[in-house]
Amino acid sequence: MNLILLEDDDFVERERRVVLRGRRFRHVVEVHRAAIGRELNVGHLGGRMGHGTVSRLAGNEIEMEVALYRDPPPALPITLVVALPRPKVLARLLSAVTAMGVKRIAFVNSWRVEKSYWKSPRLAPERLRDALLLGLEQGCDTVVPDISFERFLKPFCDERLPAIARGTLPIVAHPEARRACPRGINGPVTIAIGPEGGFIAEEIALFEAAGFEPVTLGERILTVEAAVPALLGRIS
Ligand code: SAH
Repeated sequence: MNLILLEDDDFVERERRVVLRGRRFRHVVEVHRAAIGRELNVGHLGGRMGHGTVSRLAGNEIEMEVALYRDPPPALPITLVVALPRPKVLARLLSAVTAMGVKRIAFVNSWRVEKSYWKSPRLAPERLRDALLLGLEQGCDTVVPDISFERFLKPFCDERLPAIARGTLPIVAHPEARRACPRGINGPVTIAIGPEGGFIAEEIALFEAAGFEPVTLGERILTVEAAVPALLGRIS
């Protein structure tokens, strides 16, 4: 937890003083070894960042005087369209891309996405939120990414994807593509990433019809979990 995220309910005095309990209390005491007077990085969820000074420590709660004086870092101008991964991978991927500054992610169905993934309890809003907040705490940011789930790929590609990709460079990561993935793009990019088994040819065609160009990272096939940060690093 490089940043302690503060929620509206934590404030006992508006924008000035918070009381934390539970997971954040334990983390601040056990990991930061917080004592009275100690300063910690804090951020108001959806708002500004700054520091908190520990002003009181009790058995199960900690009070901090906070000063919020800077904006969160700018968003990465990259939208991800990702075939729904295995639930465990989904949580880790969400945290990782949130820490990297991605603000928009659409999870889509694909021929090689196992049906059971869509029923996982890990898709419950509270579980997703936990993964997103972990990413914000890791990356030091306060702005929660916007995520959506698209159960039907074809209508999504036909109807919604063109609007999402408008004004961005649209690419679909595909190991067999002829074109190499571009590097160091300055403007916004939309990247589609396939499931562990890869997109089938018909799906690549759907993305192409929506204006996406298939690109490759080379002949080595990466897991989705490795491919996504590799793509973000190469493009941004
Ligand atoms: N057997 C599949 C592998 C899929 S890997 C295939 O050959 O298509 C899972 C996803 O990660 C892919 O759909 C792609 O989006 C991305 N990926 C993995 N390795 C890649 C590479 N070398 N180049 C481009 N994309 C890659």
